[in-house]
Amino acid sequence: MIFILGIDALDYELVDKLNLDSLKQLEYSKTVVPIHKKFGIPLSPEVWASFLTGKYTPKHFEKPQNFKRFLFKLNRSLKIDFSKGILEKIKLQYYKYFTVSNRFGKLNKKTFLDITQSMEINVPFYSFDNKTFDIGHLFGKGELSLEKTVKGIKLIYESRKKQIFNELDNSGNEDVVFAFMHTADMLSHYAFLRRSEIELHYIDLNNYVSALKLKLADFFDEVIFIIVSDHGFDFDKGTHSMKGFYSSNTHLIPKPENITDFYGIILELVNKNKELYRS
Ligand SMILES: [Zn+2]
Repeated sequence: MIFILGIDALDYELVDKLNLDSLKQLEYSKTVVPIHKKFGIPLSPEVWASFLTGKYTPKHFEKPQNFKRFLFKLNRSLKIDFSKGILEKIKLQYYKYFTVSNRFGKLNKKTFLDITQSMEINVPFYSFDNKTFDIGHLFGKGELSLEKTVKGIKLIYESRKKQIFNELDNSGNEDVVFAFMHTADMLSHYAFLRRSEIELHYIDLNNYVSALKLKLADFFDEVIFIIVSDHGFDFDKGTHSMKGFYSSNTHLIPKPENITDFYGIILELVNKNKELYRS
């Protein structure tokens, strides 16, 4: 079975610096991801769509008029929330896209999940529950303080960890399971100035991955465990950095260089596993 843990914004440099073995696994590397033409940084909906379909899948934004009005309002509320000098460190660029495409939206192409025996847990374009974006909206509207927003993101993280564990109780026949977490990205956006907070989150993710592997061993004989991230994070600037991340507990062949390479690699692994099972 191939288990994929998608961790939005998991940063290669920070995993490397903290030397987190469960996140690094047997092999780990940066990956090339699409850079959004207008915003000049990788945007999650575009990168995850490309990952799932194996093809560069650009994200188009709808209703630019509403979006401008909204930005104006958001800018005003941010100024209130960040009155203690943090504002200049926050890039509004980020809010531009996530407030417009507050859901990942629809995907009109087939993904590797559609053509395999698969299970998805809170995956973009599938059952992603939008909670992290909703909390960002409440912050943007001035209804939640920065403190409460950060606390809320952490609560979502805790429930997500449990959700993945619980949903695995219903698994057993899958060739592929893809579970997704968006909380590292959101925590990075809102708390990037508190480096120790971010580092603790990474350490917790590292521990979670080792617990998750033990849990998976109860249900599956052999698990190829792949961690994928859509981009890193520049903690000085408070925005996405340009490269993705992956790690694997087995050597992947060929070694993925671009985020779109995983599609073929995953399907190949599924076929190989099926042949092994048959013989
Ligand atoms: Zn982000």
